[in-house]
Amino acid sequence: MADEERAEQLRVRLAAVHARIADAAASAGRARDDVTLVVVTKTWPASDIRALHDLGVRDIGENRHPEAETKAEELAALHLTWHFIGQIQSNKAPRIAGYADVVHSVDSVRLAQRLNAGAHSRGRVIECFVQVSLDPVDQSARGRGGVVASELDEVADAVSSSEALKLCGVMGVAPLGGDAAEAYDRLAVISQRLRAGHPEATAISAGMTGDYLEAISAGATHVRVGSAILGERRPLR
Ligand SMILES: *Cc1c(COP(=O)(O)O)cnc(C)c1O
Repeated sequence: MADEERAEQLRVRLAAVHARIADAAASAGRARDDVTLVVVTKTWPASDIRALHDLGVRDIGENRHPEAETKAEELAALHLTWHFIGQIQSNKAPRIAGYADVVHSVDSVRLAQRLNAGAHSRGRVIECFVQVSLDPVDQSARGRGGVVASELDEVADAVSSSEALKLCGVMGVAPLGGDAAEAYDRLAVISQRLRAGHPEATAISAGMTGDYLEAISAGATHVRVGSAILGERRPLR
């Protein structure tokens, strides 16, 4: 597809997503500015991110290192906020701390420590969401990642006491084939509980292409939308 044609396709789809976010925010009685759209560009080329930047997008989501690092380096001249949204092996954390501005998937004390060390050594500060498992309790071991409720305080404390990390809230991924609205309502309750001890942790990262409207009704402040804007991804591997 020619560059102009792709840019036009992205423009139309991005406008549609923005319109749906505005509607969902309005129906939930929330301000439009309450919701940040993170455009998830994993598997898509840097040229798409450039086109999105030209359309006013500043928040970019990626879930794999080193794909994310390569794009962030190539596009370093653009003013973009890089959101890392995928599971992180802690040995990769120092590298990810070199380019990620926001990490949505902090799920262990060890990972927080490694991100902090990496950010600190580069004089950077990373905003962190603690990822909470929304899978049924008996399935969380083979689910979609995140801490179980009993581990949340420990990981949140590790983030908030780290000099180079800033705790901004919780993140969740709805269970596959489950009831997304119910899962995001649970995440909102977990967020409220966390804020009792960490009043600064007001953000909620929830919602993807299939369920971002439900997430906004439940209080999401950050929605992570990929395929509704970029198109269907080819299966990874
Ligand atoms: C890929 C991904 C998304 C975006 O998914 P779409 O269905 O393409 O919108 C959101 N969150 C996470 C954690 C992802 O890995």
